[in-house]
Amino acid sequence: MNTIELYKELPKTNCADCGQKTCMAFSIAVVKGSAALHTCPHLDKHTLDKLSVSVVKLDVTEAMFDKLKEETGKLDIKKASSATGAIVTGDGIIVKCLGRDYTVKYDGSVESDGVVSLWIKILLLIYIKTADASELANDWVSFDRLRMGTVKIGAFKKECEIPLTDMFIRDYTVATASITSLGAIEVAGQPSTAAWKLCLLPKIPILILYWQGDEEFPPEVKVLFDSTADRYLDVESLVFLLRELTITLGECSS
Ligand code: SF4
Repeated sequence: MNTIELYKELPKTNCADCGQKTCMAFSIAVVKGSAALHTCPHLDKHTLDKLSVSVVKLDVTEAMFDKLKEETGKLDIKKASSATGAIVTGDGIIVKCLGRDYTVKYDGSVESDGVVSLWIKILLLIYIKTADASELANDWVSFDRLRMGTVKIGAFKKECEIPLTDMFIRDYTVATASITSLGAIEVAGQPSTAAWKLCLLPKIPILILYWQGDEEFPPEVKVLFDSTADRYLDVESLVFLLRELTITLGECSS
């Protein structure tokens, strides 16, 4: 379930009784795993039960993180830094993800300024484990052209391209400002109305294409990847990474 889908189910009164400023902020916090659904006191039991089945079970991800952390602790992290485009420090390596610096320590723990979600920790460790040091091909491909991409294309559209399209439809100026705040650079010469290149991770650049739409076609966002992206993250992790992008952009614009 993405933030927009959850938001649609909320009362949308922005009463702040849940401790978040707005229902959108609450929706983002729940999808990120930093707030629980029941902290909105205005959801009836039926709605709560219905939404709860869509919320990821954190105990499963805790176990996943512990396993990855143990495996990462056995890796040569300094060697991994050159494969991942990370920077070596005294503590471990620094990986920039969605515009924020994270330190992955030699024991596999992950730190940053402020709270780090469990999902981001897992994603960074998968990235370090998977990276095969391929040079970027500078060849943009759609998600379904990546290895196993056709299997996850539905989830990719639902978690990424549709929420991004909604974001642009809601407010183009805010959407572009949010993307730019993460370090995106506008790119000329694309077939779309506008396009931006953005590095989600050092070796995972994406191209965001936005079509404004007309009488015949609705507005649309397409996201392209360097053809080497699946050598750095499996497609399931890429869906998660793009889902985090939509959440982060939602936070930038809320
Ligand atoms: S308590 Fe519920 S209705 Fe109020 S802001 Fe939070 S999510 Fe929205």
